Amino acid sequence: MNITVCNPLLRTPLSLIVDDSCPVINLTYYWIQQRHAWKARHQPGVPPDRWEGNAAQLKKIPPTIPADFAAEWAEWCWENGVKGKFSLIPYPAGVGRVDEGFPAQVVEKSSTLEYQAWMRVYRELIWPSFDLTPEMLTHTAVVDLDTFALTEEWEQVEWVNPPVDNRLTDYIIAAMEILDNVGIPCEGVTSPGAFGKRQEAAYAKAVLTASQHVNNNPRPFYFLWLKNDELPDVPIWYPEKENGVAIASIVACAGDWFGGWTGYDLGDADRFITEDLQEGRLPPILEKELPCVLVGHWPGFYFNGEKCGFEILKTVKTRLDNYDPDGTKTLWMKTSEIGHYWMARELTDITVLPVGVVSNRIQQINLSTQFPTANFTLAIDAPIRHVQVNGWDLREVHSRRDFQRDTFLIEGNQQTFIAFDLEIGETQLALIVA
Ligand SMILES: [Zn+2]
Repeated sequence: MNITVCNPLLRTPLSLIVDDSCPVINLTYYWIQQRHAWKARHQPGVPPDRWEGNAAQLKKIPPTIPADFAAEWAEWCWENGVKGKFSLIPYPAGVGRVDEGFPAQVVEKSSTLEYQAWMRVYRELIWPSFDLTPEMLTHTAVVDLDTFALTEEWEQVEWVNPPVDNRLTDYIIAAMEILDNVGIPCEGVTSPGAFGKRQEAAYAKAVLTASQHVNNNPRPFYFLWLKNDELPDVPIWYPEKENGVAIASIVACAGDWFGGWTGYDLGDADRFITEDLQEGRLPPILEKELPCVLVGHWPGFYFNGEKCGFEILKTVKTRLDNYDPDGTKTLWMKTSEIGHYWMARELTDITVLPVGVVSNRIQQINLSTQFPTANFTLAIDAPIRHVQVNGWDLREVHSRRDFQRDTFLIEGNQQTFIAFDLEIGETQLALIVA
């Protein structure tokens, strides 16, 4: 009897990553302003590179993004089942700490009321569908942890190659603690730009250590890689099988083709998936049933109030719905859920006992894991008449549309799929072969 672990409920994971988001502040406005000021101090006379933003566009960029827009966006995601990850930069551009409430007059047009409205949207509308993560501390300059003053180094420039001693771990701890101070135990972190990329092993270790320290969370994730030219994977680092400890690298495969990080570089839905569902980055990945993680940037969805990036998201979602009209091919997940599923997939021991150990009719399979996950799905290369998980009967269904947790499905009279929530410890499957 051959057993394989399949995608959850036989559906390809979909997830939307939103970067550069924070309460009140439009990160792009401050990022470009601070970068150009830095440039004038350190490289006078050298014009900014394209990646450093266009000063001429600054006049159009508002310093804040309204909570009303965040509510509209998040309600749409909720109603349409879009899930993923949404950043909450803890000390955006060094303007104010989110756990100190952004006092009035910190930024133009901002007020305590607007900050409170934003935090309500985060907690009530975004969090149910998205993991909330820090994107380090400021997403601009590196912070001196003793004084919380900004230094002349940049999180996404110098700290692409960060110090690999305790400073890196302390830095991530500081970011996680600010979120914890506002009642948000984060499931992982997001790299601002390429933060940590040249020291990925040390970075992954530091995130894992910080997550255990601040949130007692032994199975976090980090988002660092966007690969638009390779097939995606979910690498698992530092697995400790017996202790249930590991960290997942969530690798995105598509983006940013909404509105860019700038909020003035308009993308195109066709680059994700064309209207005829044949072209674009996503169809070949969906075809291979690999996790499709899309990336967008918060200022790009807002697009200086024109909401053009948000419109592209709506178009992409409509096309993905057309690709999967009965909901049997894809499954929107939070990024932490993808990480947990891949940990369970790789780090669960599955033992098929010889027939006859329990009885001549019953095939017993033992699963042992410290990595729980929802919708754990197995394929068995035999038609099974009856399935029990830890003594509970699963219900047989007859179509993929009805295939949910605690059911099983026989296809082609030769293969059986079984789905259930995998819990920590031992799980016993008892199967009666048809
Ligand atoms: Zn970012």
